[in-house]
Amino acid sequence: MTSVFTRIVRGELPAFKLYEDDLTLAFLDINPAARGHTLVIAKPELPGLLDLPPELVAATALTTQRVARAIVAALQPDGFNIIQNNGAAAGQVVFHFHVHIIPRWDGDRSVKLWRPGTATADDLQVVASEIIAHI
Ligand code: 5GP
Repeated sequence: MTSVFTRIVRGELPAFKLYEDDLTLAFLDINPAARGHTLVIAKPELPGLLDLPPELVAATALTTQRVARAIVAALQPDGFNIIQNNGAAAGQVVFHFHVHIIPRWDGDRSVKLWRPGTATADDLQVVASEIIAHI
């Protein structure tokens, strides 16, 4: 199935494009969480981070930094979030790899993605061991 972002890449759907190169495209989110909320996509239609070959990981990271720098220069936010959702459980709606750049201002209406929890040292040791076994 063709994603909406592929249709934007092809010029079949309009978008407010900010930057483009051979591998990536950055454009404004149509339902922004904040003024300047931007999406950076990998042009090939791959669903998530784990599907990207190394050159696309690098290319999207570089474009994200480049566009974030421009957003900071232009809009002078107090900070910004980089958010990248993988899977419906994580809130992903468009299954075509993209990074959100969300400018933030002190006291704005956007919320933090998580509430701090608690874990014992044993809990942390167990989960660390589980992950390390796969690195
Ligand atoms: P996700 O939840 O998948 O990480 O985020 C998808 C994002 O894509 C949402 O923030 C949504 O507003 C944005 N979006 C969905 N369709 C379009 C579209 O056609 N054009 C633009 N510019 N953004 C879109």
